[in-house]
Amino acid sequence: MKDALLRGDLCHREPEFADLLGRLRERLPAVLGVAATHEAVLITGSGTAVMEAAVIGAVRAGRSMLVVNNGVYGDRLARIGRANGITVHEVRPDGDPITRWSTPIDPQAIQDALAAHPDVDAVACVQHETTTGMINPVAEIGRITHDGDRVFLTDAISSTANEDPPLSRVAADIVCGTSNKGLHGQPGLGFLLCSARGAERIEQAPTRSFYLHPWSYLSAQRNGDVPFTPAVQVMYALDEALSELTDHGGVDARVRLYRDRADLVRSGFERLGLRILVQPAWRSNSVTMLRLPAGVTYGRLHDELKRRGYVSYGGQSHLSRDYFRLCTMGEIAWHRLAGLACALDESIIAARA
Ligand SMILES: *Cc1c(COP(=O)(O)O)cnc(C)c1O
Repeated sequence: MKDALLRGDLCHREPEFADLLGRLRERLPAVLGVAATHEAVLITGSGTAVMEAAVIGAVRAGRSMLVVNNGVYGDRLARIGRANGITVHEVRPDGDPITRWSTPIDPQAIQDALAAHPDVDAVACVQHETTTGMINPVAEIGRITHDGDRVFLTDAISSTANEDPPLSRVAADIVCGTSNKGLHGQPGLGFLLCSARGAERIEQAPTRSFYLHPWSYLSAQRNGDVPFTPAVQVMYALDEALSELTDHGGVDARVRLYRDRADLVRSGFERLGLRILVQPAWRSNSVTMLRLPAGVTYGRLHDELKRRGYVSYGGQSHLSRDYFRLCTMGEIAWHRLAGLACALDESIIAARA
């Protein structure tokens, strides 16, 4: 797939580029099981650019947005709304700051917030809060949202192709995804998947940004064109990554693969007596947040793990002192996964010494 990055230059005003764009616009919804209901819009940029385009396109003038805030990315959706002049209402789980970021939202809380704020035009929720490795009940939230002409926006950036439920079972109108993470492409390219209602909303939303106005992208791409210079090589790499995903059995097989990986590494963490922050029923298949063992600081543990060939992530915000994350996303050989618990055990001992 990385060979795709070494392809020669291709002018994005040539017919070969229109073919590539058309192919990706067709393949993304097909591979993700939503070809009958959704159309794809490609946007060059990191995942946050796609989140911003989605928020901008989801809310009409004078209306508000309801955001589920139970992690860094939900919080980011709310901040993006406010930065673009949109009135934002937030729903959060109850409890102390750590509980609030490790508990999925109760759909009843959304129901109550919608009753309290009749001007809500869009509900936004992250499917997989990468902050803690927690899954929100997006299928239920989609059903609640669709009372009236509200749209449901979901950030599925870290869940596309690797988490349950698949997008085909989530009634989302605007889905944010990127070509890296679970799709195994390269960073620098994101996409929206829009239902008919989502696309209509994007057309109606006011122009809050020049560069990230999603209607500019959607209307141009329907004609095989792009408004600005796209990351052409990253698009070729995504085309390859989609072929690899299909060759390996598609989304169902990838979800199973990620679940098997999670089972393998988590049984090792349990043997080591490490505590996983998120309750089993809400855990994702790809990110595990662990409590740091007593007497171990994250900085030392990170360096010891890295010396053994494993890169870890720290906790974000108020989770940084006591928690850290291990992520099993992307191309990883089984023997590397099988060796993780042993490397972690040695690293903890070394970090304490
Ligand atoms: C990775 C991620 C993003 C995007 O982050 P970027 O650094 O802008 O690519 C957005 N939402 C979620 C849930 C993520 O995991």
